[in-house]
Amino acid sequence: MQLSMTVWWGITALLTLLLAIQFFLYRQKKKELDLQISENMRLESKLTDTRRDLAELNARRKKLLAASTQGLIIVERDGSISSANKVAKRIFGKFRKEEITLMRWTRQHQLHELVEHTLAGEKMPAMYFNAADKVLEAHARSIKENREIVAVALAVSDVTELQKLSQSRRYFVTNISHELRTPLASLQLLTETLLNGALDDKEMAPQLVEKMAAQVDTLSQLAQEVLDLSLIESGRAPLKMAPIPLNDIAQTQIERLSLQAERKHLSLKVEIPEDISVLVDQAMINRVFTNLVHNAIKFTEQGGVTVSAQMPNGQTEFGSREVESGWIVVGISDTGIGIPKDDLPRIFERFYKVDRARSVGHESGTGLGLAIAKYIVEAHGGEIWAEGNGRAKGTTFYFTLPTDEIVE
Ligand code: ATP
Ligand code: MG
Repeated sequence: MQLSMTVWWGITALLTLLLAIQFFLYRQKKKELDLQISENMRLESKLTDTRRDLAELNARRKKLLAASTQGLIIVERDGSISSANKVAKRIFGKFRKEEITLMRWTRQHQLHELVEHTLAGEKMPAMYFNAADKVLEAHARSIKENREIVAVALAVSDVTELQKLSQSRRYFVTNISHELRTPLASLQLLTETLLNGALDDKEMAPQLVEKMAAQVDTLSQLAQEVLDLSLIESGRAPLKMAPIPLNDIAQTQIERLSLQAERKHLSLKVEIPEDISVLVDQAMINRVFTNLVHNAIKFTEQGGVTVSAQMPNGQTEFGSREVESGWIVVGISDTGIGIPKDDLPRIFERFYKVDRARSVGHESGTGLGLAIAKYIVEAHGGEIWAEGNGRAKGTTFYFTLPTDEIVE
């Protein structure tokens, strides 16, 4: 009995010990599991953070690519394109990523070579090439992974306008120097002739001085035009609009040119109703009147120049164009040499002169006066054009100006 009790106790104690050990092991395992779970959760949240950061970074990268005014392309080592922004697609056209290489997409051998050299580790300068009437500039940079070049980033810009601008600047300077040289050479010749005895010749001297005055006139016109153009181009000439009686502007400008008309025995008339007011920048509109009347005098040998204006009421007698109400049409008409029909659309271009040969005998000009007048009229929202005077000789220049609706 005693023995069986002892065995019984022994078994119970053993079972209890086993249970205790199992419980201990279970606790240990649970602790480990809890630790594992919390570590997993920490890692998962870190992963979520990283994923979010990455998505944000990607979104920013996409925005950066989209915001760029340059075409951006990433070319992989095998020539395939892994990324290209909208500007690049606008330049070279759309493409299917999987099946195209840079060469097949752009068909630009030079661009392909630029990439090849950059992949080979060379630092390449900017490259210029032509594609579909455009002048393009390309820069290439290598992309490295573990110090190995794996791809090339290309930045392509459309520099057509820039090139045109610098070309037109060069053209401008060449023209200006040429235009300066002609009147200066004449002045030099005339001065020398006077100094070499002509000054004492009572008949010849006034003629030569008159010729000198005409050349000085050309030079001051040129200086004014260059100044006007530089002001206009720099955008430092915002319009200062004010209501002004049109007749006053025309009379003042005509008076300034009356001496030139007198010299050529030309009549100079202003026929503008006194009650017409315009809303304009006076200094600017003065230039339009001066340039047009100056031309009219310059290209007329007989007869004269008439400046008139009319408020159109539906149909205008002025020129062949319909003009809306709210606008005044000014016409500057001369009885001069006229302008051939084919040249009419081009005379407002910078430096354009109708047949240079016919300018012989007339004062030379730069060909800027009408370009400036057009710019000013259009800045006021108006239009400017020229028409031949039918069978009669001469030309009429028309331009429209906004009426001053408030001041009657
Ligand atoms: P600038 O005005 O710069 O001194 P320009 O008078 O030659 O030089 P524009 O005023 O721009 O230049 O005129 C361009 C061209 O248009 C002139 O060279 C001339 O051939 C022609 N032209 C302009 N006005 C008349 C006109 N009233 N009659 C005949 N031809 C004209
Ligand atoms: Mg002119």
